[in-house]
Amino acid sequence: MSSSTVRWLAIDELPDGGLKIPYVDVRGARDGPHLTVVAGVHGTEYTSIAAVREFALSLDPQQVSGRITAVPVVNLPAFWARSPFVVPADGKNLNRSFPGDPDGSYAEVLAHHLLQAFLTGSDYLLDLHAGDLPEALEPFAMYEESAVQAASRGLALAYGLGHVVRQSTAERTVAGSTCSAAADLGIPAIVAESGQNGLMERSAVDRHLAGLTNVARSIGVLPGDTLPPPVVCEHDGWHWLRTPVAGWWEPAVPVGVEVAAGDLLGTVSEICGGVLAEVRAPEAGVPLFLTTSPAVLADGLLLGLARGTGRT
Ligand SMILES: [Zn+2]
Repeated sequence: MSSSTVRWLAIDELPDGGLKIPYVDVRGARDGPHLTVVAGVHGTEYTSIAAVREFALSLDPQQVSGRITAVPVVNLPAFWARSPFVVPADGKNLNRSFPGDPDGSYAEVLAHHLLQAFLTGSDYLLDLHAGDLPEALEPFAMYEESAVQAASRGLALAYGLGHVVRQSTAERTVAGSTCSAAADLGIPAIVAESGQNGLMERSAVDRHLAGLTNVARSIGVLPGDTLPPPVVCEHDGWHWLRTPVAGWWEPAVPVGVEVAAGDLLGTVSEICGGVLAEVRAPEAGVPLFLTTSPAVLADGLLLGLARGTGRT
């Protein structure tokens, strides 16, 4: 990679001297689509950040047909603060803040500028994530019900993870994400998740890198044969289960293993005392992420149960 491909997005409107976000922008020798790859919407999901960083550094303009923009850490304040889930300045989740607001709080201003700089004008968007510091995770890709959902599903399958979740607009568990903002702009997009608990697991980084490479090949922005999708469980939406009370959370199931309707998923207990609440599966599904921290506040998120077994 030539250093001339490194760019900076300067957002002067943010407090404390503004923000400068480094990224790599490679314009290829031949025509082709514009692929944008971002990570670090959540600043402590390190495997996804590592994968975009390595992918960016590996790019050779002679190999690119079209353009690849790669942004390893879009939420730099959370990265430096080692802050899970939220932007430190306002405590808001950047992945609930899109399309943003130039006159809003820190996360909303940041989302607005990220959308203008990186989403608008892209032909495809990949947003890489992992389980955050207190989360175990089974690798999956997610896309939104939208006018471009067929192309988004194609990206999700090409990414090559074991589970794919389609999120319907009627039952969106996540609003304001990069993916939903992209879908609203008519840009096929996925969230891809690999890695967990803030650990720099090499295998999880490699899984992301393999997915990035295969998607880039499938849309023709990088050369090479596209690997066929593996056997994939496809799910129609989620149950995001929350605890009714604060307490000591103890999961009863691992991620990635099917559960039946009514199965015990975990318990919330008093720190000194008995069980306060049992959490059971509202229908059959597969837990794809799971809070591993025992400390949960009332209404805290416990796990994401992808609906159905994925078998058709
Ligand atoms: Zn995330």
